[in-house]
Amino acid sequence: MTTAPALLLKPGKERSLTRRHPWVYAAAIARIEGEPANGELVSVRSSDRRFLAWAAYSPESSIRARCWSYREADRIDAAWLRQRVTAAVHSRQELRETGTALRLVFGEADGLPGLVVDQYEDFLVVQIQAAGVDAHREALMDALCEATRCSNVFERSDPALRAREGLPDSGGLLRGKAPPPLVEIVEHGVRYGVDIRRGHKTGFYLDQRDNRQRAAHIVQQLRARGRPVRVLNCFCYTGGFSLAAACAGAASVLSIDSSADALAIAAANATRNGLDTAGTDGAPAPQLTWQCGDVFEQLRVLHEAHGSSGAFELIILDPPKFATNQHQIERAARAYKDINLSALRLLAPGGMLMSFSCSGAVEVDLFQKIVAGAVIDARVDCFLRARLGAGADHPTLVTHPEGEYLKGLLLERST
Ligand code: SAH
Repeated sequence: MTTAPALLLKPGKERSLTRRHPWVYAAAIARIEGEPANGELVSVRSSDRRFLAWAAYSPESSIRARCWSYREADRIDAAWLRQRVTAAVHSRQELRETGTALRLVFGEADGLPGLVVDQYEDFLVVQIQAAGVDAHREALMDALCEATRCSNVFERSDPALRAREGLPDSGGLLRGKAPPPLVEIVEHGVRYGVDIRRGHKTGFYLDQRDNRQRAAHIVQQLRARGRPVRVLNCFCYTGGFSLAAACAGAASVLSIDSSADALAIAAANATRNGLDTAGTDGAPAPQLTWQCGDVFEQLRVLHEAHGSSGAFELIILDPPKFATNQHQIERAARAYKDINLSALRLLAPGGMLMSFSCSGAVEVDLFQKIVAGAVIDARVDCFLRARLGAGADHPTLVTHPEGEYLKGLLLERST
């Protein structure tokens, strides 16, 4: 066997690898032995040449190598990759009961740094966003098709992330048949059309699956109190939380998003679920309003219209990432505070607020402080009923906290 090229670390820089953090930053490397190509296998060694990990080399990225394995006996070949893929797919088997869409591979958490795979019905949608997984794309696709018995693969890699890895733009149909304009999935009994070709991420925010179901449960609980439930869903995208709430019996749902395309899919999704017409039990159809606009502005307009009369029993705030790095945290904090304050002013006594942040740079403690600041300024009393996160198909490696990006708080306004 030929010896793989080696990355020798500076003295003391082996610590993060012995703690099983899977990234090797450029600044930790003292010297490179051999001339590894982009994505090629390298061994990572301490300054005294001790083996630390097998990794994929990525010369263009500040994350200069991403670890495959910490076991020297492992051989990183097609069979090894197939084992990782199969383990990832099988570990989600039980979650298939929740519906027909699932994340099957989530990068570092599944030992496949840079690879994301989502399944929508019989379509696999992949993001190949690191040099190591790009170098093995055929073996990985073979393993995926074999493990899922799915033969349709479409690529939706983020060009910016690929550029950072020195990889050319890549996307489109990889295998099998092309996806239709919308693929219909079912999630906890609710139907959604997913735009695999042009939708956000791979088409749908699968990470919010459990929280959408939770919103449905909240609507049912609030209804049990005998009052109609009015819902405000801010940043609604294709209607994820809105339809979960409407199917659970909300009287009205006002949904706001700045994307007209997403709202068109959302309105069509309402029809898919028969929400345009009265129920067979004679229950009236929920009043659904899809509003195209800026949430910051619309929350102020709503406050002017309703004052502090408590216009909504359930409010969902699921904004896009406000901070992509440490430098943006302060500005992001102001934005989170702004929308949470406006939402709390519109929340009825006894009502519930589901407030999310998907900014990895904003840690959960900080997020809670920001929301607490909004509670104080809104002059309301709130209980923290639960901390929320991504579903079980988006696991986090405990040694890689960067993977835990989605956080949420479930607040109840006191009566
Ligand atoms: N909750 C959704 C996902 C939300 S993603 C689900 O469960 O599917 C965030 C959404 O915010 C995107 O659809 C984006 O179009 C929208 N958006 C971003 N900035 C906005 C703004 N200032 N006002 C309104 N919508 C915005």
